[in-house]
Amino acid sequence: MSDPILSIRGLRKQYGSGTEALKAVDLDIRRGEIFALLGPNGAGKTTLISIICGIVKPSGGEVLVDGKDWQRNFREVRKRIGLVPQELTMDLFEPLLSTVSFSRELFGRRPDPARIEQILKELSLWDKRKTILKELSGGMKRRVMIAKALAHDPDILFLDEPTAGVDVELRRDMWNMVRRLREMGTTIILTTHYIEEAEEMADRVGVINKGELILVEEKAELMKKLGRKILHLQLT
Ligand code: ATP
Repeated sequence: MSDPILSIRGLRKQYGSGTEALKAVDLDIRRGEIFALLGPNGAGKTTLISIICGIVKPSGGEVLVDGKDWQRNFREVRKRIGLVPQELTMDLFEPLLSTVSFSRELFGRRPDPARIEQILKELSLWDKRKTILKELSGGMKRRVMIAKALAHDPDILFLDEPTAGVDVELRRDMWNMVRRLREMGTTIILTTHYIEEAEEMADRVGVINKGELILVEEKAELMKKLGRKILHLQLT
């Protein structure tokens, strides 16, 4: 692959409990693609994302962003990464606008009220900008998590199971937003349990199970294979 934005080599994670959450994972992410990481509960999806975002320390292997060793250039590289985690992480007593603006400054970016306004309008949050977060609905809070992750204009955005437990309307909005971000040049890596989500969103799909990346395919190829498998199952 020419010039991947993100390269993962031999990435391993063993937790203190002895669980081998990642077993020597190799993966290249193309610049500007939407990559879906598909896998069941406990497969290692969150662990992989958490290592790249600097939340979990790997047991071995390396991560390169634009060919630069992530650990040696952590501050610089981390600024380029946005993360929407599964759980809501926010101060519920803060107003929405200051929460999102602060997320930008946290990464050392200069304040940019016009950019924050644009992000909030994109996510249909602008009208709620003065609202204290605890007064927002669950769906709105998930939108705030996305706004926080986008506030510092990352080049690579990780979405950890973005549509788990969200309603149809928010799921559709998220899919549209992810597509718009890709059009603007953001590279997107999302984790999901749902094959339909990978089919709807991704350019390429990786399947992870028990810490091993067992398959990486162009979406169209994967769907052909899965289609045959489903057909095979129906015939036998
Ligand atoms: P899910 O879809 O349920 O979120 P996942 O694919 O994201 O699952 P991980 O959360 O990465 O999977 O977990 C991978 C394995 O590592 C699981 O066996 C899990 O129990 C274990 N694990 C995750 N975090 C820890 C931790 N902090 N300490 C010990 N074991 C952990």
